[in-house]
Amino acid sequence: MVAKHGKSEITLKGIGVSPGIAIHEVQLLSPQIHQAVQRSINPEEVAAEIERFKEALIATHDQIKLIQKQVSKVLGDEHASIFDAHILVVDDRSFIEDVIRTVRKDLVNVEPVLQTVANRYADMLAKVADSYLSERAADIRDVTKRIMANLAGETLNQMAQISKNCIVVAHDLTPSDTASIDKSLVLGFVTDLGSATSHTAIMARALEVPAVVGLHNVTAVVSTGDTILIDGGRGFVFINPTDARLKEYKKRAQEQELILEELGTLRDKPPETQDGYLVPITANIELLEELNGIGERGAKGIGLFRTEFLFLGVEILPDEDAQTSAYEEAARSQHPSPVVIRTLDLGADKLPANFEMGDEMNPFLGDRAIRLCLTHPELFKTQLRAILRASTLGNVRMMYPMISCVQELADANAMLQECMEELREQAIAFDENIQVGTMIEVPSAALVADLLAPHVSFFSIGTNDLIQYTMAVDRGNENVAHLYKPTHMAIIRLIDHVVKVSHEHGQWTCVCGQMAAAPTLVPLLIGLGVDELSVSPSQAPLIKDVIRKLHYSDAVELAQKALVSPSSEYVEELCHAMIKRIAPEVLELSE
Ligand code: PEP
Ligand code: MG
Repeated sequence: MVAKHGKSEITLKGIGVSPGIAIHEVQLLSPQIHQAVQRSINPEEVAAEIERFKEALIATHDQIKLIQKQVSKVLGDEHASIFDAHILVVDDRSFIEDVIRTVRKDLVNVEPVLQTVANRYADMLAKVADSYLSERAADIRDVTKRIMANLAGETLNQMAQISKNCIVVAHDLTPSDTASIDKSLVLGFVTDLGSATSHTAIMARALEVPAVVGLHNVTAVVSTGDTILIDGGRGFVFINPTDARLKEYKKRAQEQELILEELGTLRDKPPETQDGYLVPITANIELLEELNGIGERGAKGIGLFRTEFLFLGVEILPDEDAQTSAYEEAARSQHPSPVVIRTLDLGADKLPANFEMGDEMNPFLGDRAIRLCLTHPELFKTQLRAILRASTLGNVRMMYPMISCVQELADANAMLQECMEELREQAIAFDENIQVGTMIEVPSAALVADLLAPHVSFFSIGTNDLIQYTMAVDRGNENVAHLYKPTHMAIIRLIDHVVKVSHEHGQWTCVCGQMAAAPTLVPLLIGLGVDELSVSPSQAPLIKDVIRKLHYSDAVELAQKALVSPSSEYVEELCHAMIKRIAPEVLELSE
């Protein structure tokens, strides 16, 4: 079919990760590669060209110094000293003279000369057997990228390309990209890569904008300025939609709006089943901007504050005071309801700007989350002190991500004790009875839940990671998304085990992974005995609707059947049939 503007409509199907319908112009984000286009210059232009180069060097020097200062403040001098090598590059007289000499001799602009000279230096160093010197090759390449950006008068931030309302189309968005996005301008996200629990998806739900990911090649078929229609619930994308398509979706959007309006009336009602069983709905948040939406959407308290997002997409990393005030703001906004602050889940794809980490073959199995915190005590203790200082209202709780064995938990708690001792010595107030929990995201942790329980007050199951690590399915890889199954019997058995252990220890278990926000799976989780569901605020009305239409006894019966089911597909059918029977309206929004 041909759309009004003469371009043919293109339909693509991906993974719908944040519901809603959006229609707008495309802004195609391309990674900013500063091409060194060669241009001849006249002899009288040489002085100005060299001046332009020197100005870019000064700007680069100043930027690196500023980054170094703030890295030193938050991560300590050891990390900051890495930038000494960058400064050495930008101040290197022979490197600079080499570039200037060539510009004078060849009468060309500075960019291609800089690129050639930098490549020559980097290649030379990369060949040296000494590992210290060969690593300097990476420094030269990094610094050259920054000088090139300064010569072009641009920043290294992809998101700086967005200047008006648009639907962002990109090959992929890193957590840093999404965290630095101008929220007032972006009406939706569409990406080649990604899956339901990838960070683009998490951020789209946080911003409450529709998103479709895992489209493989959307960036190859769309151009900036095309009109795009996205159906974030069903995972459809229409490029240059026809009039008939626009009409169909206008109707669908109106119907969805009516359902959401109806669900909005549940806001102040308790999340209680028909037979009086209460299942608190708390919020997953990444940004402080989401705090207002929690109560508005009918959730109460925070079950997961992904604090690493405070570190992503910013030039200045938050120090102890800045973190304390962020956590205090969250605690104040929800008081007296609890606020669970998760300690930093950095590493793998979530790396702050200017945070240097060695290359890892398998970063998701590498130095991330609690492991990275334990090997960076300065970073970890700064956060622990900030959480403690923010705990005086009495509603702050904290938990550790990606615990895989008892020793990690014991080490983390020991550092927490050290921080408590320091604060006591300095007569700084904090909640002496702060509840400390652990996330269960690694199968080994689920299986030794009984050994972890004595060290904590609660468990929070992070199904996004638990599923990826149990099934060996990369949670962010669209090519294996069909294998990622929350209803796999291994997952159901692990959840059942963790819940039972926590109850035997007089404790409670929350689920804060995306599984808790899937309306069809909520009865199953409740039936397995999960005590709390933490979901992105936008999902809270749907989840509350399901809980309020459910009989607890039916949920228990469903879970018992699921536990002895022959397959994941069979469990899916059971779950789907139940929602179709009790709350079909939520399927309109989420499928
Ligand atoms: C999880 O793994 O389920 C979780 C909630 O943590 P994150 O999505 O931030 O990894
Ligand atoms: Mg996780």
